[in-house]
Amino acid sequence: MIYQPESTINPERLRPLQRGITVYTGPMYSGKTTALLRTLERYTIAGINSILFSPAKDDRYSDSEVVTHSKKSHPAVKINNAEEIFSYLDSETQEPFVIGIDEAMMFDSSLINVCSNLRRLGYPVFLSCCDMDVFLNPFKLKDWEEGVNESTIGDLLAIANNVVKVTAICRFNENGHICGNEASYTRLKEGIDEAEFLKGVVVGSDVYEAVCDLHHPFIK
Ligand SMILES: [Zn+2]
Repeated sequence: MIYQPESTINPERLRPLQRGITVYTGPMYSGKTTALLRTLERYTIAGINSILFSPAKDDRYSDSEVVTHSKKSHPAVKINNAEEIFSYLDSETQEPFVIGIDEAMMFDSSLINVCSNLRRLGYPVFLSCCDMDVFLNPFKLKDWEEGVNESTIGDLLAIANNVVKVTAICRFNENGHICGNEASYTRLKEGIDEAEFLKGVVVGSDVYEAVCDLHHPFIK
């Protein structure tokens, strides 16, 4: 079920109180989606309707929910492009009151304007995303094209009101010991062929590893 039980809050009151764009961002396995779901659940507990969107491209789990690495799930609407979000908003009742967007880096560059417009309309918008790819570049949005449209997830972080950087724990194995440092970066696991990864031959979340700056091959 996407819409939670009826809310009694007056939208005229909610909107001026709580507006803006908040982004939870960091490497793989840092709990970004968990942070997003927790944020939405607070509204649910308060009886305020929220809606969670997820890219249709992210088909790892289910076509009707978002599932975290620790198997926590939440109903979600799968969409292909960010602009589809507006078709799920009821301009009369102004419900749902709160917008969540998971895996934001998998959307097209219209995401930036969509988030900006949602904010202008008064919706609190919460997103989760990876900030950098395995080469430590800001994540390129889906319609990125060199010299034509070079939008990255950095453009979202730039317009956000709040950016919450989350970290994983570095599991890099050095001489039989786990590192244990705070991990802010994602790398390809040792043994994963970079060229094959770029060609899309190797895919799936198990090719990635969250590491600290001591253990990322591109940080010298
Ligand atoms: Zn480390």
